[in-house]
Amino acid sequence: MLFRVAIVGSGPAGFYTAEHLLKRQSPRVEVDIFERLPAPFGLVRFGVAPDHQKIKSSTKAFERIAAHPAVRFYGNVELGSHVTLEELRRHYHAICFATGAESDRPMGIPGEGLRGSHTATEFVAWYNGHPDYRDRQFDLSVERVAVVGVGNVAVDVARILCRLPEELERTDIADYALDALRASRIREVYVLGRRGPAQAAFTTPEVKELGELGGADVTVPLAEVELDPLSRQDVEAADDRALRKKLEILRSFADRPVSGRRRRLVLRFLVSPVEMLDDGRGAVAGIRLVRNELHRSDDGSLRARATSVVEEIPVGLVFRSVGYRGRPLSGVPFDERRGLIPNVAGRVVDSATGDPIPGLYTSGWIKRGPTGVIGTNKPDAGETAESIAEDLAAGGGCGPVAAGADTVDRLVRARQPRCLSFDDWLRLDEIERARGEALGRPRVKFTSVEDVGRALGWG
Ligand code: NAP
Repeated sequence: MLFRVAIVGSGPAGFYTAEHLLKRQSPRVEVDIFERLPAPFGLVRFGVAPDHQKIKSSTKAFERIAAHPAVRFYGNVELGSHVTLEELRRHYHAICFATGAESDRPMGIPGEGLRGSHTATEFVAWYNGHPDYRDRQFDLSVERVAVVGVGNVAVDVARILCRLPEELERTDIADYALDALRASRIREVYVLGRRGPAQAAFTTPEVKELGELGGADVTVPLAEVELDPLSRQDVEAADDRALRKKLEILRSFADRPVSGRRRRLVLRFLVSPVEMLDDGRGAVAGIRLVRNELHRSDDGSLRARATSVVEEIPVGLVFRSVGYRGRPLSGVPFDERRGLIPNVAGRVVDSATGDPIPGLYTSGWIKRGPTGVIGTNKPDAGETAESIAEDLAAGGGCGPVAAGADTVDRLVRARQPRCLSFDDWLRLDEIERARGEALGRPRVKFTSVEDVGRALGWG
C-alpha cells in the first residue's frame, strides 16, 4: 500500500522528516510539502545569518530530497487560508507540522513596547528578506544599541550591526537591509547576559568570530568575565573543552587594546534589563539594568538573582533576543506555556488527556522548542518519521483517504493559482544567483510575493 503524507513547513525539520520517510523500505509513502512562503528552506533562508553562507549549504541536501519522484512541493500555500486541516485529513494518511518557532518570548518588563524596542526575530527576518518583515523599519541613525540575551541569535544580530558595508556586500543580505546598514550611524553595541560567561548560551566559534570583526573592537569588563566561585566549581567539574575555550576567548577580550575600529561591541554579564526608558515621546532612550549575582537553584543550575545595584545605558534601539517561540496552528493542540505542539516522540497529543491524535505528527522547533542547530533536526525528524511509519504500518493514521494525489493537486491549485512548484523555485534560485553573480554576491533575494510573481511571469 502507498501512504500519503503531508508535511507543513519546508525548513530543515520538514525536509529531514520527508527524507527519513522516503529512506524506509516500508511503508511506502508519497510526501507533499506545504510552505506558506514563496520560497523553501525556512530558517536556512530566513534565519541563518547572511554572513554564514557555509551553513546554508544544507539546502543542497534539501534539493536532493525535493527531486525525489515521490515528493511534491507547494509553495505560497498556507494551511488555514488555502487548504484546511480537515481537507488535509481527508487527503493524507498522516500530517506532520514542521512550522518552526516564528514568534518570540516576551520579557515582561516596562517599556518593552516602546518605539525602538524590537525582537531579534523581526530584525533577523528583515535582514534575511522575509516577505512578512521586509517593510519593518529600524532606526539605525542612533549611536547605541542594546541586544538582550547571550544566545547565538543575539550574537548574529550584534555581528550584523557591527559588520562593515564591504563585508555585508559579499553576502545574500536583503538589498534594502544592505542599504539601511550602509547608512547606519551605530557606534556601540551592548550584548547583555543575565548570568555569567560560563552560563552564556552562545557557542565557541561564534564568540571567536566576534573577535575577528573588521569593523568593531570587542570588549568586556574584566570584573564580569572573571568567574565567581560557583561558576568556577561547575567549570572545573565539567569536562568541557569547548566551554573552557569559550571562557578563554572571552577573557582575552577584556585585555584587548582598543584599535580604533569604527564600532565597539561590548559584552556584558550578570546584568538584567528591568525597564526600557521612555524619551518622553514613546521611544526608547535607554535601558535600566540591575546587577545580578548567581545562586545555586534546587535543580543544581546557577540562576541570576538581582542585587540592589542599578545602572542605565543610554541606547536608542533595543533588540530582545531571549528565545523564539512557536505559534499555534488552528485546530492543532498547543502548549501555551512552552510555546510548542504537545507530543510524544512526534505524535501530537491532546492537551487535556495526553492521548495521541491519530494521523497528526510534529517535527523540529515546533515539536521540541527553539533549541539546537540545523543538524539537530535530523535525529529529531528521524524520531517523528519512526512514529509515523510505525502507526501507518499498524493501520493507524488519519483513516482512509478520500482520493488520489491528483485530486489534492487540483484542489490546491484551484485555491491558490499562484502556488510554487519546486521547479518554479529552482528557476527563482537561478535568477537570484545570476543577479548576485553580477555583483560578486551569492545571490540577490526576491523578498516579496509580487517580485516572485513577476519573475515567474504570473499575470
Ligand atoms: P538561546 O540559545 O536559548 O539563548 C537565549 C538567551 O536569552 C540566553 O542567553 C538566555 O539566558 C537569555 N534570556 C532568556 N530570557 C531572558 C530574560 N528574561 N532576560 C535576559 N536574558 C534572557 O536562544 P537563541 O539565541 O534564540 O537561539 C536559538 C537556537 O538557535 C539555539 O540553539 C542556538 O544555538 C541556535 N542558533 C545557532 C546559530 C549558529 O549555529 N551560528 C545561530 C543562531 C541560532 P539564560 O541562559 O540565562 O536563560
